Amino acid sequence: MKITFWGATDEVTGSMTFLDLPEKRIMVDAGLAQGLPEVEALNLIKLPFPASSIHSIFITHAHLDHSGYLPRLVKQGYRGQIYCTPATAKLIKIILLDSASLMDENYYSEKDVQATLHMIKTVDWDQKITIDDTVFHYQAAGHILGASSLIIKHHDKKIVFSGDLGRHDDPLFPQPPFCPKADVVIMESTYGSKRRMGSIEKELATFLIKISREARVGIVASFAVARAQMLLTLIHDFFERHPEDKIKIYIDSPMMKEANQVYKQYAHLTTKPQKVFEALDNLEAIDFQRQWDSIKKKKGPLLIISSSGMLTGGRIWRHLQNWQHDKEAVLFLPGYQGVGTPGRAMAQGERTLYRDNEETAVWSGEVLTSEAFSSHADQEELINWVAKENQSSRVFLLHGEKVSKDTLKEKLRNILLDAQIPERGATIDI
Ligand SMILES: [Zn+2]
Repeated sequence: MKITFWGATDEVTGSMTFLDLPEKRIMVDAGLAQGLPEVEALNLIKLPFPASSIHSIFITHAHLDHSGYLPRLVKQGYRGQIYCTPATAKLIKIILLDSASLMDENYYSEKDVQATLHMIKTVDWDQKITIDDTVFHYQAAGHILGASSLIIKHHDKKIVFSGDLGRHDDPLFPQPPFCPKADVVIMESTYGSKRRMGSIEKELATFLIKISREARVGIVASFAVARAQMLLTLIHDFFERHPEDKIKIYIDSPMMKEANQVYKQYAHLTTKPQKVFEALDNLEAIDFQRQWDSIKKKKGPLLIISSSGMLTGGRIWRHLQNWQHDKEAVLFLPGYQGVGTPGRAMAQGERTLYRDNEETAVWSGEVLTSEAFSSHADQEELINWVAKENQSSRVFLLHGEKVSKDTLKEKLRNILLDAQIPERGATIDI
């Protein structure tokens, strides 16, 4: 067997790896590279193999940087099957349709997304798929709903793809099981150099108390899928424990509404199904112009959750514009803000928001950030996940900034694991 590393070798996003079995070519994840223009330019690079030469694709989870290249492959002639878990399939539909609506339609269109969705075949965790004499199965990875690691067995050889790994204390998902003993492990390293700081619950409580007791307007910037459902569940939980602080929540994102339905449907995969269901049921959404016309005149206490999470677009802009002159308004940015995004600029003290280089709003209120919100395993959790059973495996690190991969590589080598950082296009024999 051969593995060819392709995506997420020099950057955090765009996961894509090829596995050549003796007779068939498999692809694991098909993600879009996201971020600065030079990173997104990678989405235009020709693949090392024609799309039509790939037999099957296995997707670890729905995030765009793991699934967003699928319609492009289909447009380029891919006609095989796409495997993922049932919850991932539901989220992929939401994410890819949104992606197509923002994409240059020469790159891919909604038609390509529809064709992609027809090729998806869902498999549950631990359900085995056999292709020739190679057996594939998924195991839970925490992180977001449906997220999985992929385990591949070919005769006496075992290969594990971590996908994105969740944390041991995630508010919604169980700790991912350890990586089984394998010959080769290909793992993410997003937090390879970091320990997470702070407590999600405490930082959210500080924000909510401020909005409620000081009667202020609070705007939360959230990703519509996964982050929003975690936030809504935690807010619901906080209000249950502090009924005196309970205020109405409005959500403003059609995509968030759809993702809420999927999280409700698969609430049994979380650690608190009842709470997730209650939190996402009967939420007040801003669907029509007349609702917005009335809400935009409101005063605090008022709580609105909207996307995008890094202020790169979406409906959050109308809230920032509407309340920009309210010195008491609070913008809450939970979690990592990517390099070059308006969210990163605001977190670093910038108050003028630009869209397409045009000044759109000058925020005079408060900005609260939090480092605690992350759905990724941190350095210690990554090491524990791989090291428990894999003292003699070859470990390849992907999906991390250079410093993350370098630091994690050294840490793993210190405990005698053979850790390496592959380059784009590099091929290894197994
Ligand atoms: Zn992810």
